[in-house]
Amino acid sequence: MDAGRREIVDGGLYAVDGFIKQVDATAELPTTADEVIDLTGHVVLPGLINTHHHFYQTLTRAVPGAQDAGLFDWLTTLYPIWARMTSEHIRVSTQVALAELALSGCTTAFDHLYLFPNDSTLDDEIEAAAAVGPRLMASRGSMSLGESDGGLPPDSVVEDDQAILADTQRLIEAYHDPSPGPMVQVVVAPCSPFSVTPDLMSESAALARATGTRLHTHLAETLDEEAFCQDMFGKRAVQHAEDLDWAGDDVWFAHGVYIDDSEIERMAIDGTGVAHCPTSNMRLASGIAPVRKFLAAGVPVGLGVDGSASNDGSHLLGEARQAMLLARLDAAPNQSDGALMTARQALEIATLGGAAVLGRSDIGSLEVGRAADFISIDLDQLGYAGAQADPVAAAVFSAPATVSNNYVHGQAVVSGGMLVRIEQEPLIEHHNKLAQSLLDT
Ligand SMILES: [Zn+2]
Repeated sequence: MDAGRREIVDGGLYAVDGFIKQVDATAELPTTADEVIDLTGHVVLPGLINTHHHFYQTLTRAVPGAQDAGLFDWLTTLYPIWARMTSEHIRVSTQVALAELALSGCTTAFDHLYLFPNDSTLDDEIEAAAAVGPRLMASRGSMSLGESDGGLPPDSVVEDDQAILADTQRLIEAYHDPSPGPMVQVVVAPCSPFSVTPDLMSESAALARATGTRLHTHLAETLDEEAFCQDMFGKRAVQHAEDLDWAGDDVWFAHGVYIDDSEIERMAIDGTGVAHCPTSNMRLASGIAPVRKFLAAGVPVGLGVDGSASNDGSHLLGEARQAMLLARLDAAPNQSDGALMTARQALEIATLGGAAVLGRSDIGSLEVGRAADFISIDLDQLGYAGAQADPVAAAVFSAPATVSNNYVHGQAVVSGGMLVRIEQEPLIEHHNKLAQSLLDT
């Protein structure tokens, strides 16, 4: 994913203190190092970047009442269940989601946490994430437009605008690291037009710009939302966002399914990005995002597994495959017709695209000066049998595999297909007990 999109046979990379110093044929690299990893027979790729997720939703996968619903019914079924969460739920679900992401090739994850019931805070997520290994961009999300004011969420899960802004400021001061190669950054992220007051949207934009942080929200996800914006604000979602100062290269929206050609043009000019979440869009029957139009216009596009109650997984390599396949369906003769998305384009969205959407020039490619975030896939696995002619394409075309290695900042997070820093079995057991407790109450 360097400027020349090089693919190096018998290649390797050399890193010092978490940053790449050389990417070349193995024969050209230094012959000694503190740690030498022999990845003969593997394809090595830049670490994948997840640009939209809700870690806590791993606790509510495949909940019976929410399995076959569209977005608004799905949300109103789940809000009361989520309202029972405590800090323990946030901590354990964060580790489960990040473990699954790491094993599927993710080295940097953005998470959109927008409700803080009982004793939970964003500190819980940030502290718990450090035990797993991928870089975290954590959001102080929020909901402030409850049912009694015409919003979708019950009043019990919304907060006061001023309390939200004060806590966001506190978290930025405590955790946001603006230096290259940071492990933690903080994002300002009100939830969606149907759960946040316009005042909070514009004040959030002002806070983000005053603190040099980024802005994220759900936007133009479903037709329900489009109707809500017309009824409540008298305009389309993108216009609503723009009027509240939500446009620019420090802004990215989750989904962007219902965005028309003139809006795409404005987003391209402003540099406003999109987190494309193909599985979630299919799962909730939201629609097909105009990704091929975004790419043609120059709108930054990254990949998001979303969920994990609308996916219901956090497999990022699998999501790259979904993005490619859905774009192909969209290109069918009886749809919008056109060229097929290639495996390499899907990988580019999952790496460089994600880095652009997150405003990061330190990750997303294997080149000198970038962070040593890389993954390897063992091509001797069953699923790659017969796909050796093009290992890069096989990584996307073949059924999504667990990565063999995942290194973040030059340090192992996954080795030999196993998590290095955290024990998987007790984590799953703990998580399942907590998930059951939410449904029992
Ligand atoms: Zn979402």
